[in-house]
Amino acid sequence: MSIQLAQQVYNKALECGYMNCGIIKIAELRDYAQALERRIEMYPDVREVAMTYLAPYAEVEKAYPWAKSLVICAWWYGDVKIPKKFDGFVSKIFLTDYRRDQAAEGFKCSHRFEDALGGLGIKALTEREWGLAALRHAAVKAGLGIIRKNNLLYTAKGSWMHLEGWLIDRDLELKHHPDLKPCPEKCSLCIDACPTKAIQPYHVNILACACFLSARRPCLPAEAHYDKIGRCFYGCDICQDICPANRGAWSEDKDFPGLEELSELFAMEDILRMDDDTLRAVIQPKFWYVAPDEVWRFKNMALNVMCNEYEERYRPYIEEARSDSCDMVRNMADWVARQTYL
Ligand code: SF4
Ligand code: SF4
Repeated sequence: MSIQLAQQVYNKALECGYMNCGIIKIAELRDYAQALERRIEMYPDVREVAMTYLAPYAEVEKAYPWAKSLVICAWWYGDVKIPKKFDGFVSKIFLTDYRRDQAAEGFKCSHRFEDALGGLGIKALTEREWGLAALRHAAVKAGLGIIRKNNLLYTAKGSWMHLEGWLIDRDLELKHHPDLKPCPEKCSLCIDACPTKAIQPYHVNILACACFLSARRPCLPAEAHYDKIGRCFYGCDICQDICPANRGAWSEDKDFPGLEELSELFAMEDILRMDDDTLRAVIQPKFWYVAPDEVWRFKNMALNVMCNEYEERYRPYIEEARSDSCDMVRNMADWVARQTYL
């Protein structure tokens, strides 16, 4: 009976549009606490961030005593047309982020699947923005893929996927056995290409990763690594773009709602000249890791990009930013001016 139900869950996930789906028992997540401790031992500076963002995932059994299993679904986004304007500036995972985007197919799929779980008589709970459990950890246990040296989950179609998870009140299990070769021993393309040297085989120092630095932290003058992240405005795909396991994996045959329109407004110079209301209306809804009351951070990231890839045409924009109404932006612009043309 439970095998049948697990198969029904899997079938529904694929019918709804997911690329794959697995189910693990909740007890299998117990070792996440040790995995987290190992990560902190390796990078002691990440303790505060890890305890804030990741530690709740180690408590999932305690927090949801009714939950017996976790359903993990993978949504493939490697078929989205990405406007060239975003190349190198924004990670593809953020451009195709559907978590808050009701018009996006991934968002609709997620809701269809939740309804389907209800239709099967299953109590299910998810948290679409940050998840309720360590989903990459869970996905490996469910056999959805393997972790490669850049610490990302890969399926046969590469690493371009969003993961979602549902805690369910049924004791179910459905595992796969991915037929994937591990990273070649001699390959270190991702490690060598990482601009901040954040990667050690199978581990990433999140505090040095451009994804975290650009999307999750305030950017202030002269903080560590910002001089190395080049044009990363919101995320970084370097270690995935260079990976042979991703070669030929992008198909670019689907439009993502609003992406083409956003690309027309997306230029570092224009972002620097936007007022806060425009930033909140145009930029923040897509790049929502930045809170609406902190949209000055977009300007500081644009200034950081201009500093890293300075061209004389940026000078008037940087000069204008030195009189910005926000002191954080003024400080950053002064610093960039001193680093470049002053
Ligand atoms: S996303 Fe960029 S900065 Fe982060 S580990 Fe990969 S290459 Fe390095
Ligand atoms: S670039 Fe090479 S080492 Fe890095 S994840 Fe890809 S295959 Fe593995």
